[in-house]
Formats: sequence, structure tokens, C-alpha cells
Amino acid sequence: MTLVGDHSTGVPMRAEVEARDAADPLAHLRDRFHVPEGLIYLAGNSLGPAPLAVFDDMETALRQEWADGLVGSWNEAGWFALADRLGDRIGALIGAEAGQTVACDTTSVNVYKALHAGLSLRPGRTTIVAESGSFPTDLYVAEGVVAGRPDVTLLLEGVDGATLEELIGERTAVVLVNHVDYRTGALRDMAALTRRVHEAGAVVVWDLCHSAGILPVALDASNADLAVGCTYKYLNCGPGSPAFIYAAHRHHETLRQPLSGWWGHAAPFAFELGYRPDAGARRLLCGTQPILSMRALNAGLAAIEDVDMAEIRAKSLALTDLFMDLVREPCAAHGAEIVTPQAAAERGSQVSITHPDGYAIIQALIARGIVGDFRAPNLMRFGMAPAYLSYHDIHVAATALVEVLESESWRDPRFAARRAVT
Ligand SMILES: *Cc1c(COP(=O)(O)O)cnc(C)c1O
Repeated sequence: MTLVGDHSTGVPMRAEVEARDAADPLAHLRDRFHVPEGLIYLAGNSLGPAPLAVFDDMETALRQEWADGLVGSWNEAGWFALADRLGDRIGALIGAEAGQTVACDTTSVNVYKALHAGLSLRPGRTTIVAESGSFPTDLYVAEGVVAGRPDVTLLLEGVDGATLEELIGERTAVVLVNHVDYRTGALRDMAALTRRVHEAGAVVVWDLCHSAGILPVALDASNADLAVGCTYKYLNCGPGSPAFIYAAHRHHETLRQPLSGWWGHAAPFAFELGYRPDAGARRLLCGTQPILSMRALNAGLAAIEDVDMAEIRAKSLALTDLFMDLVREPCAAHGAEIVTPQAAAERGSQVSITHPDGYAIIQALIARGIVGDFRAPNLMRFGMAPAYLSYHDIHVAATALVEVLESESWRDPRFAARRAVT
């Protein structure tokens, strides 16, 4: 196959790409994952691939812990402590000291708890500020929060004001913000925005769904208040794997959240009459967790937690740069536009490209073994995960995209049929 890019540089692109792979300090990580033969997987920002260690872990969880250990496994296999143990390991990947992060529930549920927790920290304040371009579930949940709090109003960037900064004021209780925009891949400056929120006397909830596990996150150093995120994207912990929620130590004593179930109680096995929250991050828990799904987190985290996040970030930027360099001109020539910011400091680890027929183009690529995804109305997303992608993979994927655009092979009617999950 002829690969794109050879004309644009003195060095043949294929040789340059092979040299980069040979010198890649993270190349060995690919052996930790099951990437199906013949696939170039660029949808790890939606659902990460299976880490190989998960198969043994699941077998142990099923046969030894559940089948043989039965109810004793709550203690013997450490099931009851998984929320904290795994939470601390996630915390280590997002710049959070131990004791502030718990693994539990879903991101949607954790947004609900975090927004209420934020409101409880700022009594008397009456607005929640969020982004109209947020991942919809965050906003749907925010709507649910204000529906139960007639005193609180939801203000949206892009609707009620041009920027978040403009909407943040003395009435603001909580700002809910995505670290990386799921559509464009744009990255926010966590330290600067957190400072701005604090200057206004409000608290911030960071959504880390598209940054956890793929770029350095510094929750403690940024003085963040609360954070949520999922583990099935760049953390590769499995479909629907439990999410996480973080609250800074300084807020533990005062914050309240309304899903006051027994797992968040100070003494869950005392079976007391009234609710008394745990003194620490466990007050963010509600009830019994899906232990089998929770047991898949170990392998996902283990696959990247011994790697310096700065190295992951460096390769992630190099992969995204390579992809954008190779497709920019052909895209422009065929009505497609890269909407991911160019500057490294302003983007996460995906390349997003708009095209009116983006859905069919993604289907045509999938038919060739290049798996990206599509978000309505016109966005093609290509997630770049350094743990299992090579520079060669990116070169092949870029070539395929260019060929699909140039040949218009996406016009084949079989690429137009939409399925439930895009
Ligand atoms: C993926 C994602 C979610 C998913 O929420 P679930 O409750 O796991 O379905 C929420 N928010 C953002 C920003 C996401 O990217």
C-alpha cells in the first residue's frame, strides 16, 4: 500500500514512522492489551480495549472469590474495600493523594452527587454554571439537580453567556466543567479556571472522562474541589466499569450528598436507625457496588500505572500531531475540517474532524479495520491511546482516511445505515 505523506517531507514518511516506533519507550505496553488482529483501534476514548491481565482476574473473581469464597469474600477478597483501594490507585493517576477518591457508580450518578455536594458547600448561593457543549448526560443530570432545588438555576456557557468566566459570579455555587471537550478534544487549563472559580467564592467539579489515564491531571496541585470521571475510556477497565468521584480532603467534613445509602454511613454494619456520613471520601458512596465489574479495574489500572504520565502525554501529542499533519490538506480538499485545537497545550488525545457525511466515512473506515466513532451531527472522532497504538498504525489510519475521502468510497449505500450506538 502507498502511504500518505511521502511527498511532504525530505525523509520518506514510512522510514520516519518506523524509526519513531523503533525508538518508542512505550512500545512494549501494547503486549499488555488484546487488540484484535487486523484492527487499528482509535475508539479508546469511547471504550478502551481489554487488558490481557483481566482474563485471569475475572476467572479468579468468579471461581475463587464468588463461587468458592461466597459471602466471606467481602472480607477475605477485600470486596468491601475495593471502592477505596481502587479509588486511591485512580487518584494516583489524576494527581490526588490517597483518601480522596472512591471508585463507584457511574459518571452520571457521580455528577449528581458532586453537584449536590458542591451546593452543600456553598449554602445560600443559587446558580450552577456548566457548558452547553458538555457531554449531554452531565447537563441532563444538572437539570435533574435543579428540578429538585427550585432555589437553584442552571446557567450555560454558550446560552446564557459567551464564556464560563463571564457567568461565574457571587451567586455561583458550583461550576461543572469538562477537562477535555468530548467533541473537539479541547483541553481546559485546570489550575487557572479553578483559581477563577475560587476567586468568585464558588467550587468546581471537574469531569475527567476524557483526561483520566491519558494526560497528567493535577487535582490536588490545582486546588480542585470535586471531580468525577469514568474508567472505561482511556483507563481500559471494561464496558460500564464503575466510575470514580474525588473530593478534596478539606471538604470531607462539610459536604453532603443526597444518595445517602448505607455504604456511605460512618458505621454501615452497626445498622443504626439514622444516617451518619463516613468521615472521609466514603461518604460519597451509596450502596453495594457491582463487584465483578469493579474487579476488572485492577487490570486496566495495572496496565498503565507504572508508566510516567508525562511519557504517555508526549506520545499522545506526537500521535495526534502525526495524524493531523497527514490528513489536514486532504481533508480541506474534500470538505472535511479538523476542529481539534492545533496547540498542544489546548488539546487532549483525540482528533476530531467534521464532515457532513462523517457517519458514512467512519463506517467505510471501520470496514477497512480502522475503528473511530461518530457523534451527531457531523463529527468524526479518532482517539489516540499511546499504550497500544504505534506511529505506523497512525500512518496507516491516516492513509485510509485520505483514500476514503479521495475515492468517495463512503458513498456505498451500505455505509449509510445507522445503528443504535454510533
Ligand atoms: C463518557 C462520558 C460520560 C458517561 O457517563 P456514564 O454515566 O458512564 O454513562 C459522562 N460524561 C462525560 C463527559 C463523558 O465523556
